Amino acid sequence: SVKERGRNGWEFFNPTLQEEAEKRLAISTGLRTAIDNNEFYARYQPIVDSESGMIRGAELLVRWRSSDGEISPGVFIPVAEMTGAIITIGRWVFEEGCKAERRWKAKFGEQAPYITINVSTRQLSEPLIIEEFQEILAETGADPTRIILEITETSLMADVSANREVLNRLATTGMRVAVDDFGTGYSSLAQLSRLKVNTLKIDREFVLGLDEGEEGQIVVSAISRLAKSLKLKIVAEGVETDEQRNTIRSIGCDLIQGYYYHPPLSEEALFEAVSTSLSQRTHNEQPLKFLI
Ligand code: C2E
Ligand code: MG
Ligand code: MG
Ligand code: MG
Repeated sequence: SVKERGRNGWEFFNPTLQEEAEKRLAISTGLRTAIDNNEFYARYQPIVDSESGMIRGAELLVRWRSSDGEISPGVFIPVAEMTGAIITIGRWVFEEGCKAERRWKAKFGEQAPYITINVSTRQLSEPLIIEEFQEILAETGADPTRIILEITETSLMADVSANREVLNRLATTGMRVAVDDFGTGYSSLAQLSRLKVNTLKIDREFVLGLDEGEEGQIVVSAISRLAKSLKLKIVAEGVETDEQRNTIRSIGCDLIQGYYYHPPLSEEALFEAVSTSLSQRTHNEQPLKFLI
């Protein structure tokens, strides 16, 4: 058992732990050269209006084609956060997101989807991060009002007072903030109301909970009412089924992200999906400014 290992210091001889440590080491070594070797690329998962089905935004999800094959961000991002590599990876991701925003605006004008970019709090604790964001925004010519930074609830709440200050400074750039994986981090209403955030993204865990019946629905409606009372937008993530979509819609979530609509897409596939969604437009959609 874990207890035994801890007491006797056997972890060094436990093959699975050793394998895991070796894997982490291999990942952290690989990450050091990944940018220079052009091993990262971006995918974009559409965020869809739950009423009309129209694509209103897309989340940038980083991918890593390493020399050992594809490694998922769920695996390498935590390692990158540990080693500090997230700083350079995060800069690459942000710049990539800014350039994408420019291209989308050039292609679709006012109808272009907004972009969300995941940001680790490790990045936000860099003293010059706001200046760096400003610099990249200026260099790429991206429109900050069409960019939303996603920060996980758990990491936001790990140091609320420091993060509150960063969020206040972030607001001066014109970019907005979404609380990612919301519901897993136990923030209080009081804490949330004092943070400059714009959107809550309900974690997939709670969308899965909808399948378990009434109890799951009560939780999601409570989150949705909380968001409305704080005048926050709400996005449900990980919607996979017709049933989940219908419940989410009836609960009043404005926006949905999930395989039910689209998986993460190449930019080419995103453009096609946006074009299709624009051609099916009914003109009853809420203007983007009410959604983000
Ligand atoms: P996240 O930000 O919560 O992103 C949503 C994840 O859920 C993505 O996994 C997406 O592919 C997946 N997903 C979306 N819809 C569905 C669905 O209907 N069903 C299921 N089963 N999954 C769905 P992905 O791309 O593997 O990313 C995992 C996590 O890695 C992200 O969670 C985010 O925390 C992190 N990540 C990804 N890209 C970046 C990045 O550029 N920077 C940072 N700091 N973290 C990133
Ligand atoms: Mg995210
Ligand atoms: Mg999320
Ligand atoms: Mg998530």
